[in-house]
Amino acid sequence: MATTGKIGVTTENIFPVIKKFLYSDHEIFLRELVANAVDATQKMKALAASGDFKGELGELAVRIELDESAKTLKVIDNGIGMTEEEVDRYINQIAFSSAGEFLEKYKDQLSSIIGHFGLGFYSAFMVAEKVTIETLSWKDGATGVKWSCDGSPEYDMEACDKAERGTVITLYIADDEKEYAQKSRITGLLDKYCKFMPVPVIFGKEQEWKDGKYADTDKDNVINKVEPLWTRKPADLKDEDYNKFYRALYPMGEEPLFHIHLNVDYPFNLTGILYFPKIKNNVEISRNKIQLYCNQMFVTDSVDNIVPDFLTLLHGVIDSPDIPLNVSRSYLQSDSNVKKISTYITKKVADRLDEIFRNERQQLEEKWDNLKIFIEYGMLSDEKFCDRAMKFCLLKNTEGKYFSIDDYKKAIESGQTDKDKKTVFLYATDAEGQYPFIEAAKAKGYDVLLMDCQLDSHFVNLLETKIENARFARVDSDSIDNLIAKVDKAKPELSENEMEDISVLFKTVLPKENEYYVQAENLGSEASPVLITQSEFMRRYREMSAMGGGMNFYGEMPAMYNIIVNLEHPLVEKILTAKTTEVAPAQIIPDAAEDASEDVKKTVTEAKETADAAHKSDLEAFAMNNEILRQITSLALLANGMLKGKDLSDFIARSAKVVEDAYLK
Ligand code: ADP
Repeated sequence: MATTGKIGVTTENIFPVIKKFLYSDHEIFLRELVANAVDATQKMKALAASGDFKGELGELAVRIELDESAKTLKVIDNGIGMTEEEVDRYINQIAFSSAGEFLEKYKDQLSSIIGHFGLGFYSAFMVAEKVTIETLSWKDGATGVKWSCDGSPEYDMEACDKAERGTVITLYIADDEKEYAQKSRITGLLDKYCKFMPVPVIFGKEQEWKDGKYADTDKDNVINKVEPLWTRKPADLKDEDYNKFYRALYPMGEEPLFHIHLNVDYPFNLTGILYFPKIKNNVEISRNKIQLYCNQMFVTDSVDNIVPDFLTLLHGVIDSPDIPLNVSRSYLQSDSNVKKISTYITKKVADRLDEIFRNERQQLEEKWDNLKIFIEYGMLSDEKFCDRAMKFCLLKNTEGKYFSIDDYKKAIESGQTDKDKKTVFLYATDAEGQYPFIEAAKAKGYDVLLMDCQLDSHFVNLLETKIENARFARVDSDSIDNLIAKVDKAKPELSENEMEDISVLFKTVLPKENEYYVQAENLGSEASPVLITQSEFMRRYREMSAMGGGMNFYGEMPAMYNIIVNLEHPLVEKILTAKTTEVAPAQIIPDAAEDASEDVKKTVTEAKETADAAHKSDLEAFAMNNEILRQITSLALLANGMLKGKDLSDFIARSAKVVEDAYLK
């Protein structure tokens, strides 16, 4: 029956094309060949199970044999094999023409097709200069067939005397692909692509340590687990099993927080196990840990077009035959199955978190700090997830207690609702740095949340839109009475000139690198004499633009602080009284008459400017010499962690003197 034929492809010679365009993916040839061998074996099992095959099945396995010196690699199975007619149909015609069609269809965008598409059997030519198939079909009366092809579109097919059922594919590894004739490389590839295939895959012998070196035993080295955890029933599995599996997937990984076992067979097929990992601060490095499988065959570990962005932070395994593999990424995103899968996984993740919230609340609280960034990221990026997560998302206060959003609102509602009927959620971003403000709030009986995660500035904005009648205020963004204003307070009565004087006094003793807006308030004699705050609005926009959320206009502005001077504080009263006696009031120069000449008007304007400047320098001299003013301003800076350099050492020197005066005199 020896025949020689020309393979029916339109492209003159497809192999160079295959080589060129699939360059980065040469290694997948092994997955493709092992997958074919596994398929043929599974089919054999099915034939036996249905009774169509009544003979001896034998021990079903796929063997990989490497001869490093001859540079041949064999993939051997005892599956269904192929008849001559089948080789002709599946190898000579269909495969070749579909490869041809494929290339034809995608020739314009080949280089943009990243990722993995099976060219099946023909991917062998990416690494081999010659490939042979020796095969014997399971069918009664079948005879052996040997097919060989050296990479040109010509093949040879002849009879051979193969005695055992099944197929042997032999690759003669090309000189420029020598790495695939190395044991370590093949071991690595089998581990990457075949570790969970459903039929035993054997590569060499198990080794043992003997006489100071490793030596082969006579036991076959099975490289895979034929029944990986995700294919088993959740009811049969314990937490330990899931943790063990996690360690097998990520030997260097830290213990995961929770797991989800996925299992659906309608309207698509999907199984898998996802883990919530401990995410420290860097969201980026935690990505791309989910491995995608197709019938237990590894496909890829970049699933970013299959699951929503925030879920790429999860780890674990998804196995679905319904995710199309042979297509470009842009196509994946619009595929309806992929969309359904993505929605399903998001829903499952939310369900599981909800279940943990209801049944394992203590665990959730213990693990919350590590889980939080994941949930916040999900809520910020996926609206449906957000709506569900509003139920199980926790808030942590500065005392380390956890609350659901609803419970927290109920708890603070009566005390922290302002005159406009808005419930004010006070929060701190730095428990140490904002300590004095937190204490001031607590002294009022208020509670303060801790929002110190990298996404919190965005998250606070989000919560404000989701919680009805609520407002978030960082605890140091105003005086506590203003943060939760209960009644409209009468503003202190000050003339414009008096206010301007106060502003000059404080700006004189404040560090020069920032901008200040000085305002006066009546906060009572018990409150601090001076408070430094940063407007909630300005600060949030600066933070968000620093994180790359656009709005660069705010990002580029200098830091702007509010200086709140408490007119009711005795020390402030004392400073202002001293100012009135020591600094002459600004000289009042009447405006020039309207009909005065331009010259007169100019002279008057200049005189005013001179008088203002003189008054300002009097005030500055007074401020520099007023120890109380410098001391209370330094204290306010200190409370915000803003007292630095010379101001700090001056403050220490002055304070030391104050202490001496108090105790020694
Ligand atoms: P695909 O596997 O995507 O169908 P391939 O080019 O890998 O494409 O294989 C084409 C066909 O050749 C397979 O569908 C199968 O019928 C047959 N085949 C390939 N390898 C084997 C094998 N080891 N045993 C039996 N049949 C095989």
